[in-house]
Amino acid sequence: MLRGMLHYYSVFLDHQLFDGLNLNTLIRGYKMKYFDIKNTILLIAAIPIALISSSCTSSDDAATTSTTATSTTSDDTTTTGTTTDTQSSVSTPANFATILSETISPTLTPTIKTSVANLDRVLIKYSSSYVHLDNSTYAVGINSTISTYNDVFLKTFQLISQSSEECYRLDSEKHSNWSLDYNTSTMRLELNDTFGYTRDTNSSYLCFTFPSMNTMKATKRYTFSTSNNSYSEDTSFSAKYVEYDTSNAWPELSSSSSAITVYDSGLDVAIPTGMNPSGASMVTNERVAWTSSNADNLSDHNFYGTKLYTDTHSSYQSQIAAAGDNASTATAAATMLSAIKTDLEAVGSSLRYTKAVYTAFRNALLKTTLTGETIVGGSVGQNTAPYVFFTNEKDDSGTMHPFMVIASYSIQDRPNRLLDVTTPPGDGSGGYGESSVTRDALLGSFLYKIPLKDYGEVSTVGDNVMTTDSSGDGQNLADDAGDANYNVYSWASINTVGIAVDGVEIYPLFNNVLLASVEKGEVTQSGIHVGQGMGLHWHGDGHAANGNKMNIYNLRDYVGYDHPPLIGFGNDGVALYGKYEDDYSSMDGFSTEIDDFGGHEHDGYNYHYHAHTMESSVLNALTGYGGSLSYTVAVLMKGAWAGLINDIPEFWNGDKPNGGSGNKYGGHKDYATYTP
Ligand SMILES: [Zn+2]
Ligand SMILES: [Zn+2]
Repeated sequence: MLRGMLHYYSVFLDHQLFDGLNLNTLIRGYKMKYFDIKNTILLIAAIPIALISSSCTSSDDAATTSTTATSTTSDDTTTTGTTTDTQSSVSTPANFATILSETISPTLTPTIKTSVANLDRVLIKYSSSYVHLDNSTYAVGINSTISTYNDVFLKTFQLISQSSEECYRLDSEKHSNWSLDYNTSTMRLELNDTFGYTRDTNSSYLCFTFPSMNTMKATKRYTFSTSNNSYSEDTSFSAKYVEYDTSNAWPELSSSSSAITVYDSGLDVAIPTGMNPSGASMVTNERVAWTSSNADNLSDHNFYGTKLYTDTHSSYQSQIAAAGDNASTATAAATMLSAIKTDLEAVGSSLRYTKAVYTAFRNALLKTTLTGETIVGGSVGQNTAPYVFFTNEKDDSGTMHPFMVIASYSIQDRPNRLLDVTTPPGDGSGGYGESSVTRDALLGSFLYKIPLKDYGEVSTVGDNVMTTDSSGDGQNLADDAGDANYNVYSWASINTVGIAVDGVEIYPLFNNVLLASVEKGEVTQSGIHVGQGMGLHWHGDGHAANGNKMNIYNLRDYVGYDHPPLIGFGNDGVALYGKYEDDYSSMDGFSTEIDDFGGHEHDGYNYHYHAHTMESSVLNALTGYGGSLSYTVAVLMKGAWAGLINDIPEFWNGDKPNGGSGNKYGGHKDYATYTP
């Protein structure tokens, strides 16, 4: 038992370190290095060093070992990318703004609750209506409509237990950084910024109880102090009931009470077994104060305003003249993509996929906007990835290396539900028990470069050189952990491995002690969390884990299509699609086996990945990592790239793959030379 606990403990320590990488890359590294000439020169200088050093490191051993390691469970570790891609119609998942507007079917039938507990999500009912937020002003009123997801989210509040006080803060489900308070003049209930960027000394929240489950009473109030960045009790507040004021038509605090009952909407967003297979219970650690994490407001970021435009070579500026979904930038991007295709084919090379694939991904990214007050510094309606453009540069020997460049904040467009994570990464301030834990998502700034050219696929794990990082212990998880078991999970970047269709980074399935990160209750029901850099990143596939809910893709995205939806790209340029569903067995490739890298090719689709599930016993046998839990692992990306990366220029930015800084292939004006 003690041994088990120590092991468990070490996981968290290490995961803190692992996610600590975000702190530099997400918050400091990129923002300071972005378009920084000195660092760009260092980066360019580092690339040949990395390639040269690969010939005298363990890459050959890696290939040998991987064959041995994987042969126990599979007879095929190779990939075969030979198909000429002919995809003409490519589907992408509905984003959250679309889902919010959709009618919930079957119709919800809320059930009355007879007790409440920490983290419950509730509807607060008066007469035949529910307490409701206005969608634009966030004013608190009541109405009875619960037909769309938006209706329900604006009426749902999550009860957050206030330690020993036996009362609950009520956070909005849609605007989860804001909580219920009241106007001290009118007494009306109101929503207040309690954990967002604009909270200040006026930020307060009420702490409620539900006596006999037929009244609602605010027993305490807490107010924020900017001097110590925490809440303390407002001792001038005296307990009051919630009453519906019929003359003003609003709920308010009063000495008398209305009959108020609490309901469960029936919308299930519980953490599925696959995201917490050990049934770890909720830790009680303090929430990290994001004020310690260099959080910034949107208007302070590089992608806000014209900085990216002015720093980009004039040949590409027409593609980024406006943020988000825009007809003229779309036309410019289509023109460039056509030129790239023509130029590649003229020299006997090719795009990995048809133009339709890249265009679909670009459109989906640019149409994704933040739907709630869920990101510290974020602004409702902002793009999660404001710019996507195509570059068409040649290296010094005249070889073309076109890229899809994506400017992204790496934020979800929907509620993150980080308060539901049972055992989030800690802040590294000591042992896990003494650490504060990460429950807030900040704005990141990333410029990803996804290669458009088909660089081919690896033959086996280890073919991709990723052995030397800045600290000398490997850019892959295995070497970083000092483990020589090289396989498709451990021969993975210690950092990002791809980007999802919502603009959020995808991390490997494994954490840095070679355990499936979904196994320790570290992620939300959708498979995401933040590290101590407070940047969101995917570790698992919520759709695969919990079925048809409100995930990055859902069953609704399968209807009427020939193949699961396009949900991301690996940094190697290989596309990522949703998992195959048994109810859609006539889809292209349904019967074509997924290889060890999680990919396959079929029916004119060049080699591509699929999210997928596997039994933990298979994972244990393959990797020998010693996990003993029996559960279904919901894999978004395994980790090892099947696409060959060795010939991709400026692939690494230190330990971070494709992390953009001011460079030629990112289209920076000081380095790019393309003229149409
Ligand atoms: Zn993580
Ligand atoms: Zn497929």
